[in-house]
Amino acid sequence: MAYVINDSCISCGTCAGNCPVDAISQGDGQFVIDADKCISCGTCAGNCPVGAIAEG
Ligand code: SF4
Ligand code: SF4
Repeated sequence: MAYVINDSCISCGTCAGNCPVDAISQGDGQFVIDADKCISCGTCAGNCPVGAIAEG
């Protein structure tokens, strides 16, 4: 199950810089995770300052 970013995202970009498979990019209004690339490592969820990322 891929991780998902919710509406709490403040677009800081931290998650995108730490994803080992480059699955996170800036979308329309907030960052988004490409479910086809995500390997569910959990790194992004642990680094998000506002807790906007969880396993979907
Ligand atoms: S869980 Fe891991 S692989 Fe998936 S988006 Fe987050 S950092 Fe990238
Ligand atoms: S680390 Fe959290 S707040 Fe920052 S861009 Fe990623 S999801 Fe958004």
